[in-house]
Formats: sequence, C-alpha cells, structure tokens
Amino acid sequence: MEEASPQDPVAASSGMETEPSSPPPILGAVAGAMGCLQALEALKFLTGIGERAENRIVFLDGETLKFEVVEILRNPRCRVCGG
Ligand SMILES: [Zn+2]
Repeated sequence: MEEASPQDPVAASSGMETEPSSPPPILGAVAGAMGCLQALEALKFLTGIGERAENRIVFLDGETLKFEVVEILRNPRCRVCGG
C-alpha cells in the first residue's frame, strides 16, 4: 500500500494515518463494510431470519478483498464465554 501525504485529498477523506512506522491504516471504507456486516448480523438476530455467524470471526483484507472466517470454540472452564 502506498503511503499517503497529509495533503492527499483521497487520504484525507479516507481517514488514513500517515505515520511512516505505524501499522497499515484502516480505511474508512473497510470499517464501513464491516459495519454493514455487523448490522446484517444484528438484523438476523432480531428477526430470527437466516443463519447467524455464531462462534465465527470474519476478517476482511481490504487490500485483496478476501474474507477469512475463523471458527472459535467456547472454553467450558472460562468464566466469560463458557457460561
Ligand atoms: Zn472465554
């Protein structure tokens, strides 16, 4: 990913960070895409329609537009998720 200068209008409108040694920036469009997916999950939860992404984490790489879904398991001995 190219580094954007503070004067770059595209970078300014996307909220990109410009620190040279910082981790890759999160583009506003990527955060928006993930927000839409979260809203979809909320609607499925509220309406009872569809298959919810329970016990799964969805990752989106905005540079390649690839999704990765990782299944997570509850730890029966964990006080937070084992309930
Ligand atoms: Zn846990």
